[in-house]
Amino acid sequence: MTLHQRNQSLQVEKRRALQQLRSKDQLLEKYIFMAQLRTRNIALFYKLVIEHLQELAPVIYTPTVGTACLEYSNILPYLAEPGVPDGLFLNKADLPNLHKVIRDYQPFPNFSPQIAVISDGSRILGLGDLGLNGMGIPIGKLQLYVAGAGIDPRRTLPILLDLGTNNEALRNDEFYLGQREPRPDDKEFYSIVDTVLKTLKDVYPDMLIQFEDWSSEHAFGLLERYQHKMLCFNDDIQGTGAVILSGIMNAIRRVQSESGVNPRDHRIVFYGAGSAAIGVARQIQEYFMIDQHMPEDQARRLFWIVDSKGLVTLDRGDKLANHKVYYARKDNQGKQVKGLLNVVDYVKPTILIGLSSVSGAFDTHVLQRMAKLNKQPIIFPLSNPATKAECTFEQAMQATDNRVIFASGTAFPAFTLPGNNKTIYPDQGNNMYIFPGLGMGAALARPAIITYRMIYVAAKALADSLTPQEQQEGYLYPALNRIRQVSAQVAAAVMIEADSSKYKSKDAVSRYVQSQMWNPDKEDPAIISKI
Ligand code: NAD
Repeated sequence: MTLHQRNQSLQVEKRRALQQLRSKDQLLEKYIFMAQLRTRNIALFYKLVIEHLQELAPVIYTPTVGTACLEYSNILPYLAEPGVPDGLFLNKADLPNLHKVIRDYQPFPNFSPQIAVISDGSRILGLGDLGLNGMGIPIGKLQLYVAGAGIDPRRTLPILLDLGTNNEALRNDEFYLGQREPRPDDKEFYSIVDTVLKTLKDVYPDMLIQFEDWSSEHAFGLLERYQHKMLCFNDDIQGTGAVILSGIMNAIRRVQSESGVNPRDHRIVFYGAGSAAIGVARQIQEYFMIDQHMPEDQARRLFWIVDSKGLVTLDRGDKLANHKVYYARKDNQGKQVKGLLNVVDYVKPTILIGLSSVSGAFDTHVLQRMAKLNKQPIIFPLSNPATKAECTFEQAMQATDNRVIFASGTAFPAFTLPGNNKTIYPDQGNNMYIFPGLGMGAALARPAIITYRMIYVAAKALADSLTPQEQQEGYLYPALNRIRQVSAQVAAAVMIEADSSKYKSKDAVSRYVQSQMWNPDKEDPAIISKI
């Protein structure tokens, strides 16, 4: 069969699969259909995902993967063909023979993974502790690495570290496939994770490890413990920080060119002071320090953080959690400010970012006040899912006479301007803009560690990736259907940062990355049938 004929038939097969997929009403049915398709014909699966990413990312990843994880033990036996392994499950019983267990996991001949995504299932999306059922997340995330940046699917390793679950309902569920015991204490936890990571590094020294959906109490600790020792990063913390930083960079550029706001004059209020808020604030602060050459202390003072008790200040009278202390204000002269509207009046922010999970917190009063203070208020309600968002796109447009510069954490419908029928599409700070390119860059350049600078240049490359038309139309993020092009630019920036003596011209490196991307159309059909 010639390549041309085969492409044609893969094209027809794709249309057939798409028709089947679209005939299913329930998202979970679509998820199961896709999982089964992947074990039968990996090339067809990825051709569908790559060419219909906007339609299929919500099926193979959020929000559907959340439902799939809730049901994982119930559906797992029907997802894959018998004998086709679907990720590496590790538990305490594997520890004495861990090298062998990891080496023996050979989903493909001569398996040599470039990227592993590892979770312990302890904080799956906003769904809490799902134990072993969290495996849907590493699997889905790695599919996005393949679709978004062209990592070879045969070189990905999803890992679920099953250390039990504190979810009692799961432990008592007769179909639950995981360990039916409570999670270990911190001492045992860190000792096990140390062993697992050390062994993974022994067996696959060049592999990038991405931490995903670990409980907040461990996520920062794990990152601090390993980020300077091995090739790893945490997407919830660093990926989110980078993608939001990128949107903020473009928002700052826009209000500078359209309203003349000096970037150094921004004042930023964070509503919510959890791990996401602090992670994002730290990344945005880097922009002011690196791009705007501000000393650290001056850059830090551009941030005001609000938690459930009001503005976070050093003299508020309560014991602040460690992660809030860095941004706690000490210039408040004893004044304590409660309520977001009062904080907005007090700070007069140019940028308002929501990471609180408090639905509707950016109410009409707050939005109108932002619009009164700023010609182009920058407002990012980032809480997920849509039911938790601080405001919708429509509310933000209506309350600001359509002047808002907006990005959300969840996808909102487009808004049609009254009168002239012009439709405006809201931007979404989707982590998918960063992690695939970051992973591909690391897989190709193989640095010893992922540095802060690499995350920063990844964010900047994303901000710089807008086409002139996207810029002209006021977008903060590129079109998702250009994801592979964008990922190549992100990867190139990471590679140049990793080794500027080896990788130089951004365009040339970006072309090289594109040439290295796995493409289902180029697969030998004889090989496809075996994978
Ligand atoms: P978290 O529970 O650690 O933090 C929530 C914070 O909100 C806490 O500091 C809490 O004090 C504060 N808060 C709660 N009620 C409040 C109130 N009434 N007023 C002011 N502050 C209040 O959660 P997290 O992991 O930091 O995530 C927060 C949100 O960010 C979630 O909705 C999550 O989905 C979203 N998120 C979005 C993205 C993205 O868009 N890419 C990425 C990560 C997290």
